[in-house]
Amino acid sequence: SNTQPRYKRVLLKLSGEALMGDHDFGIDPKVLDRMALEIGALIGIGVQVGLVIGGGNLFRGAALSAAGLDRVTGDHMGMLATVMNGLAMRDALERSNIRTRVMSAIPMSGIVEHYDRRRAVRDLKEGDVVIFSAGTGNPFFTTDSAACLRGIEIQADAVLKATKVDGVYSADPNLDPTAEKYDRLSYDEVLDKKLGVMDLTAICLARDHGMPLRVFDMNRPGVLTRIVTGEKEGTLIE
Ligand code: UDP
Repeated sequence: SNTQPRYKRVLLKLSGEALMGDHDFGIDPKVLDRMALEIGALIGIGVQVGLVIGGGNLFRGAALSAAGLDRVTGDHMGMLATVMNGLAMRDALERSNIRTRVMSAIPMSGIVEHYDRRRAVRDLKEGDVVIFSAGTGNPFFTTDSAACLRGIEIQADAVLKATKVDGVYSADPNLDPTAEKYDRLSYDEVLDKKLGVMDLTAICLARDHGMPLRVFDMNRPGVLTRIVTGEKEGTLIE
């Protein structure tokens, strides 16, 4: 197959839950190793990879708030969770000999670098994976919004959103056997049909800046390589 990448620079969004493996909390190093392999394959064919990782495997502000905590405090905890996931992912990538930097939207001297767009772009051009942690740095946002924001800032060719299903369906395919998969959607269709691919802030940001989004199943081996070489995978929103 054709391995000449169609995308030169991508922003990959992994949810925190994707790092849990079969557990219901925390991080499974085996899952990280598998992802490092997939990401390493992209680096190997010269694709620049920015990464945004969620924090839902550890803490979510909304859930903490529902349990009685102050929402902003909960969101701060959620953002710190994304830094922990970023450190764990860097560890896995570096064990696979992939140079990796972790930047944080919230300064955390001595642990990770503070986010610097120009520096991130320089690092990406040198073939480093750059992990953008701590979301947007603000409460009431999500890491999906952070992924679109950083993707737009670094001028990625696309934001790739890893999920557990192989694209966007008309209904939840696990609950509704008549659910149909979409190959392509417009941003407005996602909004009008309330498809819940990403939160509204993230979709609107992508729409306003013409950032293509691809939703795909991260559990399919080789999926990232197939996406960047232009093979049909998941659902494209543009
Ligand atoms: N969060 C935040 N601002 C951001 C990004 C994340 O406050 O810009 C907090 C929020 O509490 C969120 C948590 O961090 O619930 C973890 O992120 P998210 O829920 O997006 O993780 P995912 O669902 O992708 O694992």
